[in-house]
Amino acid sequence: MTTSTTFDAPAVAPRRSAARARWLAVLRTPVGAGAGLLLALVLVLALVAPLLWSGQADRIDTSAVLQGASAEHWVGTDALGRDVFARVLVATRLSIGLALAATSIAVVLGLLLGCAPLLLGRRGGRLVTAGVNIAVAFPGLLLALFFAVVFGVGMTGAVLAIGFAGAPAFARLSQTLAAGIAERDFVAAARIAGVGRFRVLLRHVLPNIGEPLVVNATIGAGGALLAFAGLSFLGLGVQAPSYDWGRLLQDGLSGIYIHPVAALAPGVAIVVAGLAFNLFGEAVAKGIGLTTALGGGFAPGRASRREATRRDARRGAATEDQGLPVTDPGPEPGRPVLEVQDLSVTFPGAHGPVRPVRGVSFRIGRGEAVGVVGESGSGKSLTALAIARLVEQPGEVTAGRLHFQGADLLTGPDRAHRRLLGTSFAMVFQDPMTSFNPTRRIGRQLAEVAQEHQGMSRGAALARAVDRLRSVRVPAAERRAHQYPHEFSGGMRQRAMIGMGLMGEPSLIVADEPTTALDVTVQRQVLDLLAAVRAEDDVALLLISHDVAVVGQVCERVLVMYAGRVVEDLPADQLRTGARHPYTRALVAAVPDMDVDLDQPLPVIPGRPVDPAHQPPGCAYAPRCPLASARCTDEDPALDDDGAGWRVACWHAGEVAADRDVPGAAPVALALGERA
Ligand code: SF4
Repeated sequence: MTTSTTFDAPAVAPRRSAARARWLAVLRTPVGAGAGLLLALVLVLALVAPLLWSGQADRIDTSAVLQGASAEHWVGTDALGRDVFARVLVATRLSIGLALAATSIAVVLGLLLGCAPLLLGRRGGRLVTAGVNIAVAFPGLLLALFFAVVFGVGMTGAVLAIGFAGAPAFARLSQTLAAGIAERDFVAAARIAGVGRFRVLLRHVLPNIGEPLVVNATIGAGGALLAFAGLSFLGLGVQAPSYDWGRLLQDGLSGIYIHPVAALAPGVAIVVAGLAFNLFGEAVAKGIGLTTALGGGFAPGRASRREATRRDARRGAATEDQGLPVTDPGPEPGRPVLEVQDLSVTFPGAHGPVRPVRGVSFRIGRGEAVGVVGESGSGKSLTALAIARLVEQPGEVTAGRLHFQGADLLTGPDRAHRRLLGTSFAMVFQDPMTSFNPTRRIGRQLAEVAQEHQGMSRGAALARAVDRLRSVRVPAAERRAHQYPHEFSGGMRQRAMIGMGLMGEPSLIVADEPTTALDVTVQRQVLDLLAAVRAEDDVALLLISHDVAVVGQVCERVLVMYAGRVVEDLPADQLRTGARHPYTRALVAAVPDMDVDLDQPLPVIPGRPVDPAHQPPGCAYAPRCPLASARCTDEDPALDDDGAGWRVACWHAGEVAADRDVPGAAPVALALGERA
């Protein structure tokens, strides 16, 4: 295979440079620059003020007690004649330091609580989430006061109180961020590779939620500063002889009618420092495209296609189990690699269980290529996720039989399944951009599989990763292995994803719309690569696609799915001219080709995919089917085998509708023959 210039396209700016550029861009905005300057000033003061003005701040002068503002004492003196301005400057360190300490506690605790659901099982995760939800419902200040009483009066107690009170908000934020990342394809890839939960969290989730957490922690520090000043003002925080701004505010309040400036100075310091933290955090959040979450919701970025699939699934129809008979899928070129019998996926719905995959049965032999086609929401991707054990709670996967390489994936130890899938099962996702962890180098991500399952050393695993990249024709593989995903073009990332699947000894590659996000030239190259891998290693391929033409070219057999079930299982070479199910024929007829008359409307399948909430009785395709009869609307047809391995679920399989103007109603030989 020749490599196109697309594969060798120059890399975009390195990730770190891009991040630096984003932050610099923030500092170039008026608000960002002002807030940054203010924050820098506050932090510098916190560092140097005690060194420069401690003597002046602590010097007692009984001859200058409670003086007003003068050239010598800019904002006056306190009851012991100490310079209030110097004391406000010196208090910067303690005020900022304590606020940062409390924020750190809040972030760490919040992070632990927020990530716990990823590590714990279903029940433990729910328990933690419920606890966080309850804690978030309490006002922060009320929690801080409660914890201040629990931990006792004083500096340490106040730091702990504010830290604990701030933790629920960070826990909620971490949960949202982590859940968003956990749905991404690269996490799914790591899980298929057998990477444990803790490592997934450390390597894939935490690095990707760091930036928004830092931004929100900055804003949180402003809040902690105010809260700390409040506690000190109430006498629950810093105790004499130490002092922070809240303590100075309390001292000044007694003389506010005599010397208002002395009382207001620490208040102004609190407001200015709080604003510096808040404005800077907000400016950065806006600049890097985040929505701050401590005061609202956070958008964790683009949801992956798997998440969209799950959302579709949860919206899916509550249908009756079809109880499909399992039939022999026909001649196999090799022994079955995968046997799926009566596979169903169920989600709880508002009006009862929702079953977006219903009784799917098929087998794939060694080296065989099977395509799965159907409209969006037909259950194709969810079927693949169920096979890969990637359907998460509350989704439930049931099957009469789910065997991979002879091993029963429904029973037995989870660790053994992970190991088997990690070494023998490869999955290629639609969007090559989300298939890799953006914070880790490609080589390391590939090497993870070999380290995890083959016990290879770090160096040996990386060497194998380079070898695998070479085998999938990534140019300059050694150099490329040290690059980040964004430095790869889309096609090259997809090749690298296939390379990751080849780190073990795969017997099955499940490719879920692997070429949809790629341009036509690169599509061809990725398909050729999959074909080459198949041929070289006798690897079976399950190719999921909405592109009937692609599946027809690459596969030997095609499963057509509609409304969560297989409605036809036919030889790929019969797809264009011999399909028996009206839906298959409609799908094929809706594929435009080079001879299509652009002055005419493109053929489409009439009607809409079945509404999950209103699944019709009988055949789900009946409302759109030109052949529908009374029997079709009453009884759902079983998936019957014609004895030669061709399965169809239709009461009128192969019949021709009288109305030839309806797409899918025309005899398929005629419909396709005219274009061929
Ligand atoms: S069973 Fe009836 S409605 Fe369903 S596809 Fe066949 S002919 Fe159409």
